[in-house]
Formats: sequence, C-alpha cells, structure tokens
Amino acid sequence: MSPAKKKTTTRRRATTSAAKRGAGSSRKSPTSSATRKSPTKAARKSATKVARKSPTKATARKSPTKATARTSTTKRSTAGSTSSASAPLAEYNRKRDFSRTKEPEGRVPKKKGKQLEFVIQKHAASHLHYDFRLELDGVMKSWAVPKGPSLDPSVRRLAMEVEDHPISYNTFEGTIPQGEYGGGTVMLWDRGTYEADDEGGAASLRRGYEKGELRFVMHGERLRGGFVLARLRRPGRPQWLLIKRRDDHADADRDIAAEETTSVVSKRTMEQIAAGRRVWHSNR
Ligand code: MN
Repeated sequence: MSPAKKKTTTRRRATTSAAKRGAGSSRKSPTSSATRKSPTKAARKSATKVARKSPTKATARKSPTKATARTSTTKRSTAGSTSSASAPLAEYNRKRDFSRTKEPEGRVPKKKGKQLEFVIQKHAASHLHYDFRLELDGVMKSWAVPKGPSLDPSVRRLAMEVEDHPISYNTFEGTIPQGEYGGGTVMLWDRGTYEADDEGGAASLRRGYEKGELRFVMHGERLRGGFVLARLRRPGRPQWLLIKRRDDHADADRDIAAEETTSVVSKRTMEQIAAGRRVWHSNR
C-alpha cells in the first residue's frame, strides 16, 4: 500500500464515529428485491419512472444522512406519493428514526385476510389533523385531514395524501418525540373495517384509488356508512376531498370531530395521552 493510500484509510476510519448519526437511516434504505434479482431491467424501469415523475427520487433514496433525506423527501413530495418505483413503505421508513420514535417500522405483512381495516388517528403535530388510513394491498393508504371527518354530506373536507403507513400503525397511540418526523401526540380516534360500496372488493377499491374516486362504506365505532374520497386535479402531492354520502348515517347537525374527544381504545383525552408515560399503546 502506498503511503498516500494509507493516509486516506486512516482518515476515513477517524470519521466513522462522526458519520454514525447517518448510519441509522442508511441502514434503513430499502433495496428492492426487484433490483437485487435483475439489476439491469429494474434499473431501466425505475430510471424511466424517475425521469417521468421525479428527478430527485433516485438521489433521495440513496441519501446517507437524515437531514439530506428529509430535504429530498420534501422536494420529492411535490411530485406525488404514489410511485410504484419505490418499495412499499420506503418513504415511511425513510422519514423516521426508529431508534428515537416508538412508531412501528414499516413492513408489509405476508398474509392478509379477513376484512380491510381502517383507522383514524387524531394527531397534534405542528398543525392538528386527523390521519385517515384505509388498508389496501398490505399497506395503509393515508390522508391528513386538517378538520377531521364530517357527517354532513354538504361538507367537503380537504384530505392531503401522505405516505403509505404500515398496517401495524393501526394500534399506535402515544407520543412521537418532538423534533422527530410528525412529533406530537397521536390518539386512536376511530377504527373498524371498511369495504368497497359496490361489493367489488379490493379490486374495486384499487380501481377507485387509481381513478381518484374512492367510494367505500365504513364500519367504525364513530364513522359508519358511505364516504367518498375524490382526488382534486391539482399539481403536486395529491389532494383529495373527503365527503360523507347521503344515507342513514349522515347527520348535518352533528360535529363529530368536536364531539368526540377521546380515544376509542384507551378512552383517554389528548392531554392524558400526552401526559402518559407510555408512548406505545397496543390494544392486542
Ligand atoms: Mn399525521
């Protein structure tokens, strides 16, 4: 080894501890199985998608440090969240440091069965909102609804699509540390099952999601009956409207988000959850 080379090696070793903070997120960086199996084909495929949808995506996925990953994610989010070019839950995992938050790591369960689940989490982050999540194809499709759901069919609630969440997130109630992604208190505001409104099952829901017109029936503790999520034709990350459909469960006189202020699981208020010592609540 030449002396010059030796020097470089030593210097590199010395900086290892300084780079440790970034190590967590680089470890989490997803390597899609498609890429591993057939690098050429997958690379060509994703290159096409990246070029079409978001030029920063490839760099974002490789970003070794958390700060860079966050910045890239923000940039990337303007190009939409629904790319099939990234592995499922890649964006979810990239945004979180699981050594700091008690939120579950994103994994797609092998087997799914029974009915599709939904969950609504009231989330006091920098801005209060309700995270509206519908299970589809092994993940929870997610929307942030600033004002929460309404039972009044004449009311349209803005629902901003966010990254898919793992199904295991459906039992999360507690506090995400300040300074972490989504820092703040999370309450399980409603949960239950849901289904396509035309008895077409997951295929119908998938079609509706792609089309930007998702019609479904909820069987929750607080939300029941028909709802529609309709995607707006706006540039950037998809924005939808959440609207109650006219049926026996519609009620223009109730303000359900204001009325219901406790967890459907622990019965706690936001203040009680925030004060609680447990940051992870599992109802299993
Ligand atoms: Mn949220």
